[in-house]
Amino acid sequence: MRLSPLSVDEALASLRTGRDGLAPAEAARRLAEFGPNRVEELARESLLAGFARQFSHFFAIVLWVGAALAFLAERYGPGQGMSTLGVAIVGVILVNGVFSFWQEYKAERAVAALRRLLPQTVQVMRGGALEQIVAVDLVPGDVVVLAEGDLVPADCRVIEALGVRVNLATLNGESLPKARTAEPSQEDSPVLARDLLLAGTSLAAGEATAVVYATGMQTEFGHIARLTQAAGEAPSPLRREIARLSWLVAFLAMGLGVAFFLIGQAMRLPLIESCLLAIGIIVANVPEGLLPTVTLSLAMATQRMARRNALVRHLPAVEALGSASVICCDKTGTLTENRMAVKRLLLGRALLEPAALADRPELAARHRQLLLNAALCHNVKANRAGGAAAGDPMEVALAAMGRRAAGWERAVRLDEIPFDTARKRMSVLCDTPEGRVLYCKGALETVLPACEAVEGDAGVTPLDDAERARLLRAEDELAGSGLRVLAFAHAVIGAGGPPTDDRGLTLSGLVGLEDPPRPEVPGAIARCARAGIRVLMVTGDHPRTALAIAREIGLVTDASPRVVTGDELRRLSPAQLQLALDGRQLVFARVSAEQKMTLVEALKKKGEIVAVTGDGVNDAPALKTADIGIAMGLSGTDVAREAADVILLDDNFASIVAAVEEGRSVYENIRKFLTYILTSNIPELVPYLSFVLFGIPLPLTIIQILAVDLGTDMVPALALGAEKPDPAVMTRPPRARKERLLTWGLVARAYLFLGVMEAVAAMAAFLSVLARAGWHRGEALASSDPLYLQATTACLAAIVVMQVVNVFLCRHPRASSLAFGLTGNPLMLAGVAVEVTLILAIVYTRPGAWLFGTAPLGPEVWLQAALFALSMWALDELRKVWARRAGGGRGPERPANGSARARSPGSTP
Ligand code: ATP
Repeated sequence: MRLSPLSVDEALASLRTGRDGLAPAEAARRLAEFGPNRVEELARESLLAGFARQFSHFFAIVLWVGAALAFLAERYGPGQGMSTLGVAIVGVILVNGVFSFWQEYKAERAVAALRRLLPQTVQVMRGGALEQIVAVDLVPGDVVVLAEGDLVPADCRVIEALGVRVNLATLNGESLPKARTAEPSQEDSPVLARDLLLAGTSLAAGEATAVVYATGMQTEFGHIARLTQAAGEAPSPLRREIARLSWLVAFLAMGLGVAFFLIGQAMRLPLIESCLLAIGIIVANVPEGLLPTVTLSLAMATQRMARRNALVRHLPAVEALGSASVICCDKTGTLTENRMAVKRLLLGRALLEPAALADRPELAARHRQLLLNAALCHNVKANRAGGAAAGDPMEVALAAMGRRAAGWERAVRLDEIPFDTARKRMSVLCDTPEGRVLYCKGALETVLPACEAVEGDAGVTPLDDAERARLLRAEDELAGSGLRVLAFAHAVIGAGGPPTDDRGLTLSGLVGLEDPPRPEVPGAIARCARAGIRVLMVTGDHPRTALAIAREIGLVTDASPRVVTGDELRRLSPAQLQLALDGRQLVFARVSAEQKMTLVEALKKKGEIVAVTGDGVNDAPALKTADIGIAMGLSGTDVAREAADVILLDDNFASIVAAVEEGRSVYENIRKFLTYILTSNIPELVPYLSFVLFGIPLPLTIIQILAVDLGTDMVPALALGAEKPDPAVMTRPPRARKERLLTWGLVARAYLFLGVMEAVAAMAAFLSVLARAGWHRGEALASSDPLYLQATTACLAAIVVMQVVNVFLCRHPRASSLAFGLTGNPLMLAGVAVEVTLILAIVYTRPGAWLFGTAPLGPEVWLQAALFALSMWALDELRKVWARRAGGGRGPERPANGSARARSPGSTP
């Protein structure tokens, strides 16, 4: 549908609507007719393809090879049960694939559910009243009101536009914003038509009222979405790390399998036995449940983060958050409450409290222009239903003060120069009963150069240098007490040419507003200091206001910290800036959004992992450049939210710190279950080595290995992935960018320490059952011999008993297992319960015996395994004591380069 070149009224008529919008009943009817305003997301991968992927990844291929070997062995030596083994391995691949698919599906659903938590909303006129609705409910004929930073929710024809510029990058890649007006356009292409606003683009500046003419898949964006495939996300460092790990482990498994096959052949073992060896070693080494558990633990972390008010938009952001080393943070609304209250007024030479205006009407009358300015120069939307006004809380406070004191507000706005962080001021041109007046408000240093006169106690006088200096001093003083200071100026426009806010203004006074710090922020700042995370305040506000607030929240403690202003920043070369960033306590003030990006780039060059907050349109580049872009959910624009990785639901700095804590714990948790899963590989491997090296009967069958890897180990591993953040996680420096998931410390603990102890217990269980029955070395045992069945069952049972204890040891690499309560992680107890039930079922039930080749055990076997488990627990606890003493804390294993980046706590603010 094309609405150009219709006039506004023709366009409205053709859509059977008016400037007051649709009646609610008609909107509901149209919603039923046209359907929801949603561009159907293209499924990146069909369910079937996702399902198939679970059977073709590297681990699965290794297992397929194992199964093929078994079937091959059956061919050359039929009747020895090798085909049953082959079928069992294929069964494992299937069970594992289905389980992984289910976990991935659950993880994806969890992330998608989070996205739905914060739907895009839009201001719409319905039956003459302005309402906020979710963009999905828009219908053709709706009249929407859009402001700077809003995403255009559907294809619209402009009805009114004030300084509108749109960013069309999503449609045509063009990065320069283009103007849009209500004038009918002759352009044929909707993208070029100057009277249209298209879905998927965003308002870079200005305000618009527009009528919707196409929604959902009918929009231009919908057409494009149909044609193009969404680009896939680049793999995150964690994914790459996991992939590396998978290859490593799978190659190890294959290599060892082949090597043992050859050793078996060299020892002249029958082909069947060599194959059995190879398959056993492959199956023992592949950590089958690893990949889906990683995905699921990331997804669970996003849910925990959402509960703590940080909404993660992409899974990889979870781990990036965990390694953040610098947080560049706005002041207003994030560190402070954004609850503005006017505290001081500088009118003439008098510094007053706002209450003075009510007490002294002559004062209000004398400074009427300032009050009218406050009442008129803003973008606050009055709520017709009588509720709270919507808009920037500072403007709400100023408008309320102006309206109360001036008591008059009949004015027509003719034009507006909107606020932007570079100009730091905003102006409106109004027709008032007192004539046409330009009102300007903003930072004093940008307003003062445009002023030629000042309103004082004795009326309007020319502005001389002494007066300028006095005003700047007064501003400094107000800012020094933490107030945000705004200057107000105006000009009555006569016939003297077009109005401008660059010159000829009369300064009417200064207003100081208080915006208290959020109460939880000082605590969060202190946590960051302990966690080795540097917090840099990067604000557009006055240096002294910034410093006062920074002191109040404990961000700055030095007597003479460095405050770098935007002007200074502009003069610094990239090298100078990088060196300046070495400074101990730094605050950045009067910084524009573009400079924020320069700062982020400089920090990244220094090797920092940077998180940056932002809310405005101009913040989008910095949000994209940073390792973690964090947008404000309450005050942020759609554009900032789109550019961000994380959205703060409450705009609160403390929520960022909570998210960092969750991000760090996820990494630690992955390490915990990795330790757990890898440990049991050794007691699964050693029986095969002993079989070859010592010529004893095979102590553990392949099916029994699978019973551990895919049965008893599964839920406890998941439980380790769901561990709550360890309080100590925020007392360590951030992880280094290059730090590996699989450290030598972890491998040594899993394979050489815990694994070896488990192997000893497993072999002891096997051999003692045989020894008690009088078996001696060299004596042959048939694979169906009840004694042999009982001995392998004892080996399996010992591994599981050891793993039951191991799950508690794996809760932390250094802290004692006794330091953790049993109730903190319900999945942990469930995991152990499942593990115990499964092994009892395997050992004592008929189907268990049939499936896994087991025989019932006497109590002495369990007792012996329990003694070994107790010894492992005691030895690992001793190791932990030693590690704590040596490491001086409860930190995890850390490679040597991990500490190179660690800052001493004293160097963080
Ligand atoms: P932060 O960047 O930490 O959120 P901020 O809100 O003070 O701090 P900006 O929004 O960039 O930063 O504002 C910079 C300055 O511009 C403010 O200190 C104020 O002097 C002025 N200013 C802010 N908002 C307005 C506005 N709506 N109208 C006029 N001037 C404004």
